[in-house]
Amino acid sequence: MNGVGLQNKRECFIDRIAYKLLDEGRPEYNLFLKQVLMPTESAENPKKPSVPEDGIPRREALKIAGVLLVTHLSPLPVRRPTTRAKKVIVGGAGIAGLSCAYELTKRGHDVTVLEASALTGGHVRTVREGLADGLYVDAGAEHFTQPGYDRYWQYVQEFNLTALPYPRRNRMLRVLQGKMYSEDDLHSPNVLKALGFNQREVQFLARHAWWELPSLYFDPVLDKFTDEYRPFDAGLNHLDHVTMDQWLEEQGASASAIRYIGGTGVSTLHVLWHAAILKLRKVPLFPPKVFRLKGGNQRMTDAFASRLGNRVRLERPITGIEHSPSGVRVRYRESGEEKTMDAEYLVCCMSAVMLRQIPVNPAWPESKRYAVVTVPYYTASRPFFQSRSRFWEKDGVSPNIEFGERSLSHIWRMADDVDTQRGLLVSTADGLTTGEAAAKTFRRYYPGKSEDIELALVHDWSKDPWVMACETLHYRPGDLTRLWPALAEPHGRIHFAGAYADNLNWGMEAATRSANRAAERIDGES
Ligand SMILES: Cc1cc2nc3c(=O)[nH]c(=O)nc-3n(C[C@H](O)[C@H](O)[C@H](O)COP(=O)(O)OP(=O)(O)OC[C@H]3O[C@@H](n4cnc5c(N)ncnc54)[C@H](O)[C@@H]3O)c2cc1C
Repeated sequence: MNGVGLQNKRECFIDRIAYKLLDEGRPEYNLFLKQVLMPTESAENPKKPSVPEDGIPRREALKIAGVLLVTHLSPLPVRRPTTRAKKVIVGGAGIAGLSCAYELTKRGHDVTVLEASALTGGHVRTVREGLADGLYVDAGAEHFTQPGYDRYWQYVQEFNLTALPYPRRNRMLRVLQGKMYSEDDLHSPNVLKALGFNQREVQFLARHAWWELPSLYFDPVLDKFTDEYRPFDAGLNHLDHVTMDQWLEEQGASASAIRYIGGTGVSTLHVLWHAAILKLRKVPLFPPKVFRLKGGNQRMTDAFASRLGNRVRLERPITGIEHSPSGVRVRYRESGEEKTMDAEYLVCCMSAVMLRQIPVNPAWPESKRYAVVTVPYYTASRPFFQSRSRFWEKDGVSPNIEFGERSLSHIWRMADDVDTQRGLLVSTADGLTTGEAAAKTFRRYYPGKSEDIELALVHDWSKDPWVMACETLHYRPGDLTRLWPALAEPHGRIHFAGAYADNLNWGMEAATRSANRAAERIDGES
């Protein structure tokens, strides 16, 4: 399956992977996704949570209790002077946890970051092992945009990091229905008709880039969203209960457009709201110009971690949370022993998939519980190829190719700032993909003659116990109403940050935005 701009998180945006896997039946994935990544219940199918018996973290839901303040989330709050130093525990040292801890520390608070794994950075990870000549790969977050990553760019400047323009979306080639097409091909009415688009879509795509197709249907309603943090003010709330594919059909979309835009089984309101947020931030649906950090995006999380120093404690997974109106007690493991730490505040910065496994006492109120156990995620892997030369240059073929296959979704080059003859191609694929399977798919379609891949490796996030869940998917019908803003709202002394906890709920910008919001709120409390 291929994407017009909407079918996978990074290249497009309607979430597909988990739904596709469930649809097409891979038993090992079905079990994995259903148990760990996918919702344990939905608005249509509520389920009673099971109760942890022994306080040991389990992949089960949480108890019900308490009261949640459901106000609407504001954008970044105005900075207020620190009233007094507070003791804060931050759970998780991904970019959200690190940036939250950094902001709190800057304001004079006493912060300890408890990180489950032996590394900081979470899904921001630059891999060098196994690669020659100083080549490197961003195994997780690999690009950012301008505009669109405003908070992130401020850190780029603050830490004096170098952002490189990153031509990974130039001259894209796309494999559609088994055949490779250039950008020019996809303006040709004959090609578009043969691909099954209707007259209106053909006329639109003849004048617009392939990835703009969703705009044909979305644009007429996007301006109804005027506040990016208030999706329910757009007057489209009924669309939370309509799936995107149904809605597109009602709008007169062809079967091909529905297929390429995607969105089977997901809330139309959620998809339209995300498109509207991008529009409000002046970010194209599929930004053609993107950036990365020279030396790898982990330079950013390393910069936070080095400033935090020994406030970050590695290999300390949080195993339990207790809270009261006056503070929190966190249970964690250290060298096999169970320990506790008390603080005035806790900021949970692990993914919701990890959070839903941690027993909480008193349990979350129902709206928070439902949100934490329901938010759906996908997982992915990052195959990458080292080649003896930049063979695609010899062949005059663009290395930016969208395959849309499970073993190879899309590919592009990376690390061309490294002084070497060698080439590096990096790609995205489903979890559990092998380097060999990805290389085989590449060879099946690559149109040039000089391919000289010498190494095919993979970073498989699905095998990483603490960060297996990559990013959230669009919500199922009815769930936006229940998950927003309950998922991101603080509960008493506990705040939530992370990519999932902002309005556009993916990526490093969402992680830093939500982290800044949590830090500002804690700082501002008396
Ligand atoms: C393949 C891939 C490609 C991506 N591409 C991009 C991109 O191009 N641009 C972009 O902006 N974003 C991209 N992302 C998404 C981006 O990487 C994430 O949104 C972001 O890094 C999430 O940061 P986070 O801090 O919210 O969560 P995480 O990175 O998941 O960090 C959470 C941390 O919590 C720790 N933890 C978990 N459980 C516990 C526990 N019980 N106790 C203590 N610690 C715990 C984890 O070990 C981890 O370090 C991509 C992600 C992937 C996987």
